[in-house]
Amino acid sequence: MKIADGVFVVPEVAANTYVIVDPDGLTLIDAGLPRSRDRILRFISGLGRPPRDVKRILLTHADWDHIGSLAALQKATGALTSASRIEAEAIAAGRSSRPTKLPSSASLIRRLMRRFMSPRPFQVDEILADGQVLPVLGGLQVVDTAGHCPGHISFFSPSTGILFCGDSMVTDEQGIHGSRPIFTWDPVMAQNAVKKQASLGVRIVCSGHGPVVMDAAGKFPL
Ligand SMILES: [Zn+2]
Repeated sequence: MKIADGVFVVPEVAANTYVIVDPDGLTLIDAGLPRSRDRILRFISGLGRPPRDVKRILLTHADWDHIGSLAALQKATGALTSASRIEAEAIAAGRSSRPTKLPSSASLIRRLMRRFMSPRPFQVDEILADGQVLPVLGGLQVVDTAGHCPGHISFFSPSTGILFCGDSMVTDEQGIHGSRPIFTWDPVMAQNAVKKQASLGVRIVCSGHGPVVMDAAGKFPL
């Protein structure tokens, strides 16, 4: 589905993967659940582009539903993979970047989650830092939005007003909300991350879960 010129969201995946088309190649933002590779590559093929045209895979954070198909997509495309240092270390260790908040009575659930939801360790190529500007979508800024997890980052394109906020905020038909409490590492930092993103001059919010929010100014959960 097209969001703006050269910006798409892959439909029918539970965690959103975004595709940015630049003259020199394609960029993916987040890598979806495990076994999402074929759906993402089919969408890219529908844009008339082969897998090798994907040059970058940018990761907002290390949660399993955002990196589940990372290794498979990297293998299929040869893309450069990038994440913050904290999240890259978690991905390399095959673990979450924060402790779970599930109650201890949920130990069976926790064991099952660990077994089925922890992707294999993967070495990310490039470490991203707050303020860095990537040669994507006219200059894509890396924004430190820790809170949902310790190394969460968002990506903001000032020239288009598009913010890719990962799970620092979630969206639904009612609008934009903060990071879901049960998945939030530090609620105060998470709220500061919302404030920071509200001050950027965002026009379009592309979240990790939920619909894209157009005309986003004034809709931030402050
Ligand atoms: Zn998450």
